[in-house]
Amino acid sequence: MTLSELHKKYGTQDKCIAYLEKTRWGKQHYCILCGSIKVKKRNKSIRWHCNDCNRDFSVLYGTIFEDTRLPLPQFFEIIFLMNNAKMGMSAAEISRAVGVKYHTAWYACHRVRCAMINNELRLEGVVEFDEAYMGGKPRKRALPSNTASLARVTEKRGRGTKKVPVVGAVEKKGRVYVKIIEKLTSRNLLAMLKQVVKTDESVVITDDFKSYKKFDEQVEHITINHSEGYGKGIRTVNTIEGFWSIIKNGIKGSYRAISKKYLPFYLAEFSYKYNNRHLQNNSFHAIIENTVKDEKCMINYKPVRDTKEIAYGKRTQKKCLS
Ligand SMILES: [Zn+2]
Repeated sequence: MTLSELHKKYGTQDKCIAYLEKTRWGKQHYCILCGSIKVKKRNKSIRWHCNDCNRDFSVLYGTIFEDTRLPLPQFFEIIFLMNNAKMGMSAAEISRAVGVKYHTAWYACHRVRCAMINNELRLEGVVEFDEAYMGGKPRKRALPSNTASLARVTEKRGRGTKKVPVVGAVEKKGRVYVKIIEKLTSRNLLAMLKQVVKTDESVVITDDFKSYKKFDEQVEHITINHSEGYGKGIRTVNTIEGFWSIIKNGIKGSYRAISKKYLPFYLAEFSYKYNNRHLQNNSFHAIIENTVKDEKCMINYKPVRDTKEIAYGKRTQKKCLS
């Protein structure tokens, strides 16, 4: 889809609402609050009324579009721009392109990232595990001690820096899952392995970092010794290295610096785009589908809350159908 097609198809609030209703409900409208199908549309309003529970609702309820005063056509434009920018697009660029205030763009972008979160991923086949350290180069002058910025780092590279450790798992030629793990202990890594990999159908490749040793007990595990070269054939961790370079270049080029707090959202954005790279023309629709999925309805999508809980689950999900 091109920008002009987007304007033609979803240029007005009504067209956007109609599209969202079609995506969320298909042909059968039902009450989001109780599941009843005895609903009717209120005149000249986006709201629907349920005759069973006697409450009103709209298609925006529980989605990232709830409670926003930003017109939907502009919101769609933001989704379109973010989705098309492989290396990411900063809120400042979005605000100039769409013509909204920086603050509005910032909020909208984070809401879109919330819709990109996918915790149901289960990887299989040949899976590479590796960790990376996110954060900029150290500044020359000392920062005040209460600064939470990622720029507060030591000059050391790799393991042992004060940067934020991020662990990634990726299928060869497949999908990726990344997560911040503050302490790279065997226990934490094993927990991630069990969460995201189908252990009885997979082979896991890692380097010889000692915390990966315990993987042997759970899954077929190949260890690469980097001091003896970087492996050959499938015995490499090149796929995940490639993904790290996309993220690192994206952050450096578009976002400049990212606070530790919001890093999970950016990781979600980059992984989402990587996992859906084959969709091409349908990728816009895929995001819209995500925003209105009932099981994904989020009460905690608001980006100012605990970002880690939003990004990695544990949050209480809004029950749309009870
Ligand atoms: Zn109802």
